[in-house]
Amino acid sequence: MNYLIGVDIGTTSTKSIAFDLQGNILARRNIGYALISSEPSYSEQDPEEIFKAVVDSIRDVALETGRKGYDLSGIAFSSAMHSVIAVDKHGKPLTNSIIWADTRSRNYAADLKSSGLGHEIYMKTGTPIHPMSPLCKIAWMRDNLAEIYSKAYKFISIKEYVLYKLFGEYVIDYSIASATGLFDIYNLEWDRKALDFAGIDAIKLSRPVDTMHKMLGLRDDYREYMGIAADIPFIVGASDGCLANLGTNAIRPGEAAVTIGTSGAIRVISDKPLNDEEERIFSYILTEDRFVLGGPVNNGGIVLRWFRDNFGDMEALQGKESNEDPYDLLIDKAEKISAGSDGLIFLPYLLGERAPHWDANSKGVYFGINIKHSKAHFLRALLEGVIYGIYDVGRALVETTGDIHRIYATGGFVRSELWVQILADIFNKEVAIAESFESSCLGAAVLGMKSLNMIDSIDEVEKLVPVSKIFYPDGANHQMYSKLFKIYERLYGKLKDEFLNVEDL
Ligand code: ADP
Repeated sequence: MNYLIGVDIGTTSTKSIAFDLQGNILARRNIGYALISSEPSYSEQDPEEIFKAVVDSIRDVALETGRKGYDLSGIAFSSAMHSVIAVDKHGKPLTNSIIWADTRSRNYAADLKSSGLGHEIYMKTGTPIHPMSPLCKIAWMRDNLAEIYSKAYKFISIKEYVLYKLFGEYVIDYSIASATGLFDIYNLEWDRKALDFAGIDAIKLSRPVDTMHKMLGLRDDYREYMGIAADIPFIVGASDGCLANLGTNAIRPGEAAVTIGTSGAIRVISDKPLNDEEERIFSYILTEDRFVLGGPVNNGGIVLRWFRDNFGDMEALQGKESNEDPYDLLIDKAEKISAGSDGLIFLPYLLGERAPHWDANSKGVYFGINIKHSKAHFLRALLEGVIYGIYDVGRALVETTGDIHRIYATGGFVRSELWVQILADIFNKEVAIAESFESSCLGAAVLGMKSLNMIDSIDEVEKLVPVSKIFYPDGANHQMYSKLFKIYERLYGKLKDEFLNVEDL
């Protein structure tokens, strides 16, 4: 009985999960770590703390699964995108890991985005020009951390840091590379113009390798510590976003994965990289012939949490008495209102927005309030507004990649049937709920199975991810939403400049 470990180096924790070849979970371990924010715009993590979480979680899972009599075949990695660590000649970090949420390089991103060079770099690299990208962060370091910048031997991501410590070699998978803003996704090499903007040569970055690339020769001390045999291959794997598509079985052209947790995202698969003249979407690599195109939104489930925390006192109290989840009580209220919230429209940009506008200054708006609108209307409009935000990105994807046939939904929002139905109705598409709770870990394990020739194709993931329920769109609701979405879309265009005026008040 063989098994693989999928390791996902995430933003809040590292998850290691042991899967058998049918996709069943045999053991799991989750180890969290701190976020370091010494300035409001800084988001950093200690690479050593993360490394320890990786080796400890692998050790615990391997021990538990080994005791059950299973044999380990390989370990495959997923990790969050966009992190950067400057390291010296000996691999020692000169900085913390500067993660995706860090916005210190926002002026560099804004200047580059408004230039022709920015557009050229985006069209080559598939990474939206944004302070999240290592491209902008390294340029920032050059001017603001001059001493560290000049001492830096390499600029690497957290996954490269972990693999370097385990194997003594700097490699970066095409997937993580494709999210740096520095990688030419057409020719699979570092992009000269992007390197020039960051002020570095390719030698300062790792060697790009395929996402199914195997590493052997684990250092003895870590091999002993984790209790792993010397011949166990490590598969470099891909990014968490790309692997989430694989782990939910949304990997054929025309299939989309919609995730709404705290934030949200919609991603589709294409057999070639496709960029958008309007720079709304990303184009990241899963394997050499599958690209994940999509866009992240800041304003997912966090918007409902904001409503619950600020206007949900009654539901919190009631929930305490009846032992019900306040979210469910809020959703029950919204359910009583018909589709379209009687003309109340919500722009969900409480946290500014990434895709499709990439506009950090945008704000939330309730529009069209009349005397008949109640709290329940505000709730329903909020649920609809979050989905309009995702739909806005979905339309950009359809324009560039072709029609979407089916959506696989994951994340906390699937706990609400109403919310998922709104998704089906706004898109006018079938929505399947995939029974996959740790899709990035499972995606990594499936990539590992293919790399080790244990499966013929990653399409076999279909057998590992059962669908628990399908939601079908309602035509009448779709028509209503189509009318309202046109207003939603125009509202953003009309208010865009006004958002700037409330910024400094
Ligand atoms: P994370 O991004 O931290 O992994 P989750 O995937 O757990 O988050 O999603 C959390 C979000 O899911 C909450 O902010 C909330 O909007 C939504 N959510 C949680 N429970 C419910 C529920 N019962 N009904 C509707 N939405 C819910």
